[in-house]
Amino acid sequence: AADREKVNSVAKIKVVVRKRPLNKKELAKNEEDIIETLSNSLVVHETKLKVDLTEYVEKHEFVFDAVLNEEVSNDEVYRETVEPIVPIIFQRTKATCFAYGQTGSGKTFTMKPLPLKASWDILRLMHHTYRNQGFQLFVSFFEIYGGKLFDLLSDRKKLFMREDGKQQVCIVGLQEYRASDVETIKDLIEKGNATRSTGTTGANEESSRSHAILQLAIKRSVDGNESKPPRVVGKLSFIDLAGSERGADTTDNDKQTRMEGAEINKSLLALKECIRALDNDQGHIPFRGSKLTEVLRDSFMGNSRTVMISCISPSSGSCEHTLNTLRYADRVK
Ligand code: ADP
Ligand code: MG
Repeated sequence: AADREKVNSVAKIKVVVRKRPLNKKELAKNEEDIIETLSNSLVVHETKLKVDLTEYVEKHEFVFDAVLNEEVSNDEVYRETVEPIVPIIFQRTKATCFAYGQTGSGKTFTMKPLPLKASWDILRLMHHTYRNQGFQLFVSFFEIYGGKLFDLLSDRKKLFMREDGKQQVCIVGLQEYRASDVETIKDLIEKGNATRSTGTTGANEESSRSHAILQLAIKRSVDGNESKPPRVVGKLSFIDLAGSERGADTTDNDKQTRMEGAEINKSLLALKECIRALDNDQGHIPFRGSKLTEVLRDSFMGNSRTVMISCISPSSGSCEHTLNTLRYADRVK
């Protein structure tokens, strides 16, 4: 009962905004910081032009569960977002952490350290609180690019999704590594990230068009029977989403780019609808809208938790994208 309470005390959906500092390029262009932050709200100061071309400022205020400003460290981001959901994955719960935002807003910077920090805490719980209870930790890492799945721990091997009779999603051939120490996990994460960013052409462009999904699964042998394959108890997923502005590439001259843009647009819209459905307890969750939501199906079923980290740039030049990101986050909360 105490354990059930532990799960119930964690909010079903948490929406956090992280603002990064102005970078050198933005400073060189004399761009201004247009984001004013408070502990859980922020104001965007948008400069607009009147018909007579004089400038005026329109203010847009948003309220979230937390707003993390440019001085907040990655450690503090972890404590605010993922740390509270780590213990509940030992209680038959699935939890997912998303990083959303335009390319260059800080998604990867924010997301990269989180699985490692979570692994520390998971292994500590396994070795102390749940000592000798047969829990095991597994790591997998894949990406969705143009609606197709690729294994980031297996040289981008193409993967296929299958649904079993019990509506469980299974990714056929996905490499899962058992990890009993942080070093192993660190190596796997680095390997996956390197595979992702080099992609096929080596351009950074590629990673902005893919969703990267790192999953930490906690398994346990049935009735302590070591000869049977262990069953999943809980799962923690970290999703570094494609650049939100890519969803608008639907009128590009290049057909490939247009198709990828349409897929990204579809997946981000479907994701928003799925998260909203979770909160409303509507019963029907529209997974089938995209590959991303289909793959995450089991993480949205039953008792699940979602953390959305919306990353924004502070600069005046990104105002429109920032407002789009904040409106998306506002719809999810
Ligand atoms: P995205 O993954 O959203 O495209 P990145 O995470 O690659 O963006 O961030 C873009 C650049 O900004 C990188 O050079 C990154 O190191 C830097 N950056 C992002 N967020 C921060 C931050 N909070 N503090 C300092 N530098 C940051
Ligand atoms: Mg990135």
